[in-house]
Amino acid sequence: EPIESIDVVVIGAGPAGVVAATLLWQKGYRVRVLERQHFPRFSIGESLLPQCMVYLEEAGLADVVNNAGFRYKNGAAFAWGDRYTWFNFEEKFTAGPGTTFQVERARFDKLLTDAAEARGVDIRFGQAITDCVATDTGSRLTARADDGSLTQLDCRFVLDASGFGRVLPRLLDLETPSNFPVRQAFFTHVEDGIAPGAFDRDKILVTVHPQERDIWFWLIPLSDTKCSCGVIVSDEKLAQRRGETPEQLLHELIAEAPVLAKLLANASWPIPVNKLSGYSRNVKQLATDRYALLGNAGEFLDPIFSSGITIAMRSASTAVATLVRQLEGETVDWHADYEQPLRQGVDTFRVFVDAWYEGLFQDIIFFEGQVVSVRDMISSVLAGYAWDRANPFVADPTRRMNALAQFCRPEEAS
Ligand code: FAD
Repeated sequence: EPIESIDVVVIGAGPAGVVAATLLWQKGYRVRVLERQHFPRFSIGESLLPQCMVYLEEAGLADVVNNAGFRYKNGAAFAWGDRYTWFNFEEKFTAGPGTTFQVERARFDKLLTDAAEARGVDIRFGQAITDCVATDTGSRLTARADDGSLTQLDCRFVLDASGFGRVLPRLLDLETPSNFPVRQAFFTHVEDGIAPGAFDRDKILVTVHPQERDIWFWLIPLSDTKCSCGVIVSDEKLAQRRGETPEQLLHELIAEAPVLAKLLANASWPIPVNKLSGYSRNVKQLATDRYALLGNAGEFLDPIFSSGITIAMRSASTAVATLVRQLEGETVDWHADYEQPLRQGVDTFRVFVDAWYEGLFQDIIFFEGQVVSVRDMISSVLAGYAWDRANPFVADPTRRMNALAQFCRPEEAS
């Protein structure tokens, strides 16, 4: 049988893959998504940022998300002992959407793929990519179906949106270690039993462990009665608690954070606690004239600021804009046109993530004498607007963060 040849293959039908494929389909390219699993399937990453609504809009997928009845989100709240502070994403430096949703990913990802397929986007489930080799005109991919049968497919370009599957980084030896220490996540969905009004269900709640400030918990409301709940702990800290089950670890850690423990005092825990470790990853390069890595298939930083899906969708939008020019015959510079601009926003988040684990960002947000205009700049980044270079915290995040520390940590500045 002759090998079929199309314009673009997208590996993986998560948020990055479905946005990229829909954008290419809108522009009339022959694109196919090959997804290893069958949807709905579980995925981690439930709190969206307002910035990602812009990319859903661009792909024509915003309406379906807006009308799905997902839990509304307008900000992020942070608690540490008795201290509590929050950011309202509608009060921010950068123009653009200020609200979004918290979503069960099984349902969210299925909704997006259903909407894309209804338009005519070609998505094939139960097809795992196992090989990718260069040809004269692009790449030849091998896909393995559920029954073990193999098919080959030629294309001019590959977009790898395989998330933690990291298909091309593995096949093409692109992986490099992340600079972050290895951390683990323990998480589940909980019938929270929280009394109305005791907790702002319009925001993600991030609780810092009272003594060990690099340990933090998330509480993401998914409905009026259900939350996603999880904790992040470094391997180093976990070593001191070895031998316990994920259930015991999560409950033991929650018990050490009295304000969170009180909030969840009446909770029931119907679902086993899941564990994920070593999720921070990086690669040598994000793209060449044959392929581009999108979302988590490229770099994944850290879950603290819920930036994963926003970065994934941003990468899809930027990569497609570059790819369309190439497919039209223009010579494009993938480093200058895709990798650099994408990494600029990722690097903004990186400064914030470093400052979080170092404790500096926590000192900043819990400091009471904050200037409103500065809080709006921080709010913008937390809302996902990490590519707006008009924001001083995007243009020069390290210098800005250190300058703020002089207000919030006066004893260190003197
Ligand atoms: P994915 O959503 O992972 O999709 C990749 C798809 O590729 C999968 O469906 C997979 O089956 C498929 N695939 C894999 N291998 C193959 C193969 N060989 N062939 C074909 N298909 C394949 N992000 C947020 O925005 N908000 C959050 O609150 C948040 N919380 C997080 C908490 C934790 C603990 C962690 C670890 C991450 C969190 N994230 C969060 C990050 C988020 O999970 C990811 O950034 C996001 O899912 C990335 O989307 P993606 O499209 O790149 O990949």
